[in-house]
Formats: sequence, structure tokens, C-alpha cells
Amino acid sequence: MRFASIGSGSEGNGTLIAAGSQGTLLVDCGFSARAALGRMADLQVAAEDLAAILVTHEHSDHVRGVARLANRCRIPVYTTWGTWAAKLSGVLDQTLLQLINPHEAFEVAGLTVQPVPVPHDAREPCQFVFQSRQGSRLGLLTDVGSVTPHMLASYEQCDALMLECNHDLEMLAAGPYPPALKRRVAGPLGHLNNRQSAQMLAQLDQARLQHLVVTHISQQNNHPELAVAALLEQAHCQEHKIRVASQDSGLEWTPLHRTDMIS
Ligand SMILES: [Zn+2]
Ligand SMILES: [Zn+2]
Repeated sequence: MRFASIGSGSEGNGTLIAAGSQGTLLVDCGFSARAALGRMADLQVAAEDLAAILVTHEHSDHVRGVARLANRCRIPVYTTWGTWAAKLSGVLDQTLLQLINPHEAFEVAGLTVQPVPVPHDAREPCQFVFQSRQGSRLGLLTDVGSVTPHMLASYEQCDALMLECNHDLEMLAAGPYPPALKRRVAGPLGHLNNRQSAQMLAQLDQARLQHLVVTHISQQNNHPELAVAALLEQAHCQEHKIRVASQDSGLEWTPLHRTDMIS
């Protein structure tokens, strides 16, 4: 399995995942279809390589280009009923829709995908854990206001984790957002701050973790260095494992190898 990001942050998100020869998954498309195709081309991925688009929730930084890209290139879209009803109903070609049960794993492109329901201010949001046939596990977790016991259980034993470190609490408090937006971002249905993300990681077994990718960093209310410092200090994550997916350039293709062969 390998993964990459076409960009991460409140201006647009998209993650690419590939295992073997059964095509590439795009999780979320928060860029216009045209911009997403350009960003994918930078990572040597063409529209015809996409086996499916998975959508976590209906916020525009995740769904903006989904319908146009899927309709134009005939790509199936996997998402919950709530996400479809909120933003894709009426714009996505119905024949491309693959409704998922957010409590039930499904198979696509040679991967087992476990959806994880999360607390966020959307209709039926879920995040995902991907497992390859060789047993490699990649966790994706952004757009989450609080950490639940089910999330902790679901993200155990990942070989790679793309984890939201949205804001620094002090920067958010002192920053330019209006009070209502500050309350939303920091609230239990908003986004994880650096400390919450580090505390979640600290509760996970990191024995198998090869890559911790910091994602969905707020450009106004955070600095990558603050997020990395929190992960080092509060989660004791090893520095060489930490990468940052940026808004502008995302993250290059990163291979995952099963190093731990204990079954
Ligand atoms: Zn988002
Ligand atoms: Zn969101």
C-alpha cells in the first residue's frame, strides 16, 4: 500500500491510496475537479487510474469537486446517506452512488475499508481505516471535534496515521476568527487541536507506526512546528516518523511496508 495527499487544510483536501494493480482511491475532493486533476497529475495519477472516490462528509473543503469529477470520468462514489443527502443529491449521477453503512467494512480496489463514525458538525460524517491484503493499516482522521472510545479502538495498530492537528488553542483564541467561529472550531463537533491530537496518539499503541502525517493544519490558527512539538512532547512520537501534509503541495507518495509480521 502507498498513500499521498493532493493537499490538506480548510481550502481543500484529497488523499490518494493505492494497493497493487486495482486502481487508486481518492478520499475527498475539496478542490475543483480541474485543480484536483492537476494536483493528481503532479503525483502521476490520471482520472482513469481512479477506482473510486470516498467522501468523509459534505463540507466544501472535502466535497467541492466530487460530483463533477465523478460524473465526467464515471468514477463510483462511496459515502454515507447523510453526506449524499446534504451535498451530492441532485448533482451526482445516481448510478455512480455506492451508499455505505458507516458501521460496516467494505472492499474496494483491493483494500478493506473500515468507516469510523466521528463527532463533527455534518450530517453523517465518517473517517476511514484502510487495510491491505498484506495487513498494512493506514488511518485517516480529520474533521473531528472530540475523541471517542470507538475512535481509539478503531485507530489502534496503524502503520501510518494521517491525523488532524487543526489549531493551536492559544493562536485560535488570539486569532482573527469571529467569536462564533472560534467556538465552532474548538467545540466538541469542530476540529482537533494540537493537544487533543497528541493526547489521542499517546493513547494508541505506536509499535507499528511508521508514519505520522500531520493534516488539516489551519493556516490562520496554527503552525506546523507547534503541531509537531505537541506530538513530540505529549505523545512521545519519534521525530523521524512525523511528516506534514500541506495545503499547497500535500504529501508525496509514501510506501507502507509491513515490518511486523506477527499475525
Ligand atoms: Zn475539513
Ligand atoms: Zn468538516
